[in-house]
Amino acid sequence: MNKLRCDAISIFPEYFAPLQLSLIGKAIENGLVDIKVHDLRDQATGVHKSVDDTPYGGGAGMVMSPEPWGSAIDQVLGEVDSPTHDLIILTPAGEKFSQKIAEELSQSHHMIFACGRYEGIDQRITDYYRLIPGVRVRELSIGDYVLNGGEVATLTILEAVIRLIPGVLGNPDSLVEESHSMDEDIVEYPNYTKPANWRGLEVPEVLLSGNHALIKRWRLEQAQERTRILGERTGE
Ligand code: SAM
Repeated sequence: MNKLRCDAISIFPEYFAPLQLSLIGKAIENGLVDIKVHDLRDQATGVHKSVDDTPYGGGAGMVMSPEPWGSAIDQVLGEVDSPTHDLIILTPAGEKFSQKIAEELSQSHHMIFACGRYEGIDQRITDYYRLIPGVRVRELSIGDYVLNGGEVATLTILEAVIRLIPGVLGNPDSLVEESHSMDEDIVEYPNYTKPANWRGLEVPEVLLSGNHALIKRWRLEQAQERTRILGERTGE
């Protein structure tokens, strides 16, 4: 079985505490995934252990310096024996993360997450590692908004990827028919559970019919309608 190794590099390693919880925590416990978190400041030199500097060309804010990033990434690459490494640089200017990318990354043996802060990481980190054989660099964004740092984005990507690894979800059927997981990008149908009447709202009768063909057709129609409405709202 493919055991996934993940390394997250950040100036706030404490951000990753939630990884110990729930299904990801269990996946770690069961040895399906190994996650190591590294403090970027361990690589900083100088009295102030500074990891940022003013931007060339002027402008607001500070930019993360290439030296500590280069040392931290080199150290991880040296530690992890893997034929390929996926270096993920979190940035709102990156390719939009999607279920398709999560599926691709779930085949990875080793992912490294570079969590930026301030105005982001010096561009030469992306450019340099793109030239290193065996390292696949991906600049990824989790959406068209700006966070303070890449940690939350990393947690999002990790959760979406790790749940796809065989053995992580108790019931692998949960992955079938999920939103965005089908060939044609379609969202899931609405779900209902007991009671059949809640505050006067009835569960659609077809779901109580026991007729599986009818239920399947109804769910597909509902999924298509939801996808259409969503498309109208988002203009996609
Ligand atoms: N100056 C950058 C820009 O305008 O593109 C924004 C920097 S942001 C304040 C600091 C860091 O947060 C980024 O380097 C990145 O690691 C992370 N970040 C912010 N928004 C993100 C998003 N939508 N997806 C992924 N990472 C994000």
